[in-house]
Amino acid sequence: MKLILLGAPGAGKGTQSARISEKYNIPAIATGDILRGAIKEGTELGLSAKSYMDAGKLVPDDVVVGIIRDYLSTDACKNGFILDGFPRSIPQAEALDAMGVNIDVVLSIEVPDDKIIARMSGRRVCRCGASYHVDYIPPKVENVCDKCGEALYVREDDKAETVANRLKTFHTQTEPLKEFYAAKGILATVEGQEEVADTTALVFETLAKVER
Ligand code: AMP
Repeated sequence: MKLILLGAPGAGKGTQSARISEKYNIPAIATGDILRGAIKEGTELGLSAKSYMDAGKLVPDDVVVGIIRDYLSTDACKNGFILDGFPRSIPQAEALDAMGVNIDVVLSIEVPDDKIIARMSGRRVCRCGASYHVDYIPPKVENVCDKCGEALYVREDDKAETVANRLKTFHTQTEPLKEFYAAKGILATVEGQEEVADTTALVFETLAKVER
């Protein structure tokens, strides 16, 4: 299964991607996580990406295309993969095509902007990659990661002003991908539900149809 997850920031791509990865036993590649890791390590990649991310803008296409090319060439991806947060623009999608990658399905998780804004204000993340929401996916102990016990924090780019910019970026640069993939006949959409498990059920239903 070669899968792309599309959706606004905070639509639940990361959460669903983790569940799909577990069920289908395929790796999830999240460009946002890779870039945040690079920032944390203080690498050249991190330094070049940080200002774009803090402003809610897209990191230049050639940077993320390079990351994806490296990952997809590894053995871990040979039986399939989930792309979470890539492509995010038409040129990125064209670059993926040019790599000769045949995607089975592009799953768009649809959530209206007002809900996205409410969700992002409650998001708490951990350095281990786990993600929570104070109301919808609370950790067992307030502000402590269930998986590793570290303190949770608010992502720098989840601040209200940056969220507005990220949504604008999504609508202008990423949303046109829906038409791009619909034209190829591989777009599927799922309405993001209040409960994570309900969205997961719809996602699995949709993927089961693709498998057939
Ligand atoms: P995410 O964790 O997917 O919400 O990504 C966080 C930020 O990383 C985005 O707001 C962008 O600045 C950057 N980013 C992640 N993936 C991409 C991509 N495919 N193209 C450009 N920038 C990206």
